[in-house]
Amino acid sequence: MRIGILALQGAFIEHEKILEKLGVESFEIRQKKDMDRPMDGIIIPGGESTVIGKLLRELDMLESLKSMINNGLTVFGTCAGMIILADRIENEEKTHIGTMDITVRRNAYGRQLGSFYAEEDFDNVGKVPMTFIRAPYITKCGPKARAIATCKGNIVAAVQDNQMVTSFHPELNDSLLVHKYFVEEICK
Ligand code: GLN
Repeated sequence: MRIGILALQGAFIEHEKILEKLGVESFEIRQKKDMDRPMDGIIIPGGESTVIGKLLRELDMLESLKSMINNGLTVFGTCAGMIILADRIENEEKTHIGTMDITVRRNAYGRQLGSFYAEEDFDNVGKVPMTFIRAPYITKCGPKARAIATCKGNIVAAVQDNQMVTSFHPELNDSLLVHKYFVEEICK
């Protein structure tokens, strides 16, 4: 098992560390040719979705990544990574990869609740720690996607075939549960 981690901007090193603890090999994807390396899945990390989207376009990686995902490449988007994968972004015309049948609201918790921690149920895994940082949430899952976690009444994780997204940053806690789920349930 080998996972590529998009390393253009944001919290990519933390994902590498979690995968290492799980005994899963990973490598950084910084330019288009890095996507030619064999991989069983890719992680799009948190950070700033506008910056990651801009860099994906400037480096001519966006369309290739989109077709790789459409052709079955397994992908896990966290926070900004979730926004990058969303087919619909509220109040914004421009989307990015757009392969996931969800509507997201950026910075959805507002200024008061910019960052917070919670522990909530995650699909059939049980309670997992959730660190939110200026996080989006999913306002609507289309018929292709399935919600797998909620927090404060909002959808914060979803899956759709080879794709999985979380509003929160599972790589910022010691728990390996969410990455284990990705590797075992989505990358299979
Ligand atoms: N607020 C960021 C955005 O809109 C996401 C924040 C994050 O990834 N922690 O892209």
